[in-house]
Amino acid sequence: MPVKPAPKKEEPAKKEEAKPAAAAETSAAAPKAQKAEKKREKKHKEEKGVHAMYKTEGDKVSRTRPTCERCGPGYFTADHHDRYTCGHCGFTRYKQK
Ligand SMILES: [Zn+2]
Repeated sequence: MPVKPAPKKEEPAKKEEAKPAAAAETSAAAPKAQKAEKKREKKHKEEKGVHAMYKTEGDKVSRTRPTCERCGPGYFTADHHDRYTCGHCGFTRYKQK
């Protein structure tokens, strides 16, 4: 039985061209810096936490949102586009137009 020589599959050798170090550095560093800036902008968009309810001007402290009338001081109301609501008791006060 004549054995046919199996056709040799010659895969083209992939030669990875070595990139010059300087070019690789600049291409990698530029987009990274842009991403960081974008993230920072998003973070600054909305402050969260109790500290966002207060504003300090010099020695004086002012509240950025009214407190709940029912619960008293210490309970801030949520600022919606047309109303203030208390998350503690559900008190709602509509903004006057
Ligand atoms: Zn309340």
